[in-house]
Amino acid sequence: MADTKILLDESEIPTHWYNVVADMPNKPEPVLGPDGKPIGPDALAAIFPMALIEQEVSAERWIPIPEPVREIYRLWRPAPLYRARRLEQALGTPARIYYKYEGVSPAGSHKVNTSVPQAWYNQQAGIKRLTTETGAGQWGSSIAFAGQMFGLEVRVYMVKVSYDQKPFRRSMIQTWGAEVFASPTDMTESGRKILAQDPNSPGSLGIAISEAVEEAASRTDTNYTLGSVLNHVLLHQTIIGQEAKKQFEKVGDYPDMIFAPCGGGSNFGGVAFPFLADKAAGKEVRLVGVEPTSCPTLTRGHYAYDFGDSSGFTPLMKMYTLGHDFVPPGIHAGGLRYHGESPLVSQLYHEKLIEAVAVPQLATFEAGVTFARAEGIIPAPESNHAIAACVAEARRCKETGEAKTLFFNLSGHGHFDMAAYDRYFAGDLTDYAYPAEAIEAALHHLPKVG
Ligand SMILES: *Cc1c(COP(=O)(O)O)cnc(C)c1O
Repeated sequence: MADTKILLDESEIPTHWYNVVADMPNKPEPVLGPDGKPIGPDALAAIFPMALIEQEVSAERWIPIPEPVREIYRLWRPAPLYRARRLEQALGTPARIYYKYEGVSPAGSHKVNTSVPQAWYNQQAGIKRLTTETGAGQWGSSIAFAGQMFGLEVRVYMVKVSYDQKPFRRSMIQTWGAEVFASPTDMTESGRKILAQDPNSPGSLGIAISEAVEEAASRTDTNYTLGSVLNHVLLHQTIIGQEAKKQFEKVGDYPDMIFAPCGGGSNFGGVAFPFLADKAAGKEVRLVGVEPTSCPTLTRGHYAYDFGDSSGFTPLMKMYTLGHDFVPPGIHAGGLRYHGESPLVSQLYHEKLIEAVAVPQLATFEAGVTFARAEGIIPAPESNHAIAACVAEARRCKETGEAKTLFFNLSGHGHFDMAAYDRYFAGDLTDYAYPAEAIEAALHHLPKVG
């Protein structure tokens, strides 16, 4: 019987990140300043080190991974690719299902693939402190871990509702030596402004980003880090797809369809972009980002210039957006609650090179539980979105008799998300579709450009 886990040697950890910009039919849309004009690298220098700014705007196909970063990657990479035979059996599908498991990392998700290089480049630039925001806590713990690896202080603004609901992510952040505060805080102008409007604000990623950016911009020893959305973040994540390609080669298979959960787009870009290079070279492969119906950025958002944060501190990026003042419904149990989407993923979606689907909450948990009962691993609620879309396709294959090769990214484990599973088993979770009026209203709050 063929292997269940398809493994690579440490020497096969990629030596370069893959930059999809090199293979895009059209150049990325420029990032705009408050005046509506494209910004230069200097505008970002207050909060990012130059090495990351260069990666942000680079069109080079391959960018070398510094050896000290690869050395930290060795703690958990290469990540295994699994053939999900037991899930195939449980579904009775002729499809072959594979998943890449990013939950083997210290923080339990793919996010350390970028937190580590981000911390490294900041340390090299002489930076002493990093600020960031975190929603569900995965990014906060990932950057706390990376800061610890390279001796940087880290301060995390954690969305209040998650801060209250996820005490153990908080403890994890503290275990790796970082500070964590419930956002909105009274420590920043942005936080105070929100609290004045609504003292009980549950917070949002947009608000927490405003706080973290504001602090980083006001101190020369401090830079800001972001766990998704930006080009350099997606670049770092491409080690996932590159490893997966080698693993598929080992078993002589190749995916017909790839699914990944889509929040800011980083794990989707990470797994899909290296395959997009094959697609550009004529190969057939469908790349599907999967988002919640409660935060349907790609499938129902507007493709327009918008801010990355809720206060309008960040430059304007052309992306699919639900409006920068989007506050996600608190009833949603998992992550994937960001109002925007990676500009690279947005543009590729707009140009129909990739696809997207939205899945309602209950279907994601149903799929996650089916997966856990067959394969053992308990997935992060975000990952359940990809599983749900993959399982739906596997069931279609059962009807049609097609033996497709399906592949999804299991972006993280759900060990810190059991409260969400608890609510699911208790029947407390409901489906929720973001209202059309709210999507329409967001249009009127978009910044005017040009
Ligand atoms: C953060 C996170 C996501 C969503 O973020 P992307 O940038 O879209 O990848 C998905 N899965 C897990 C486990 C996460 O931690």
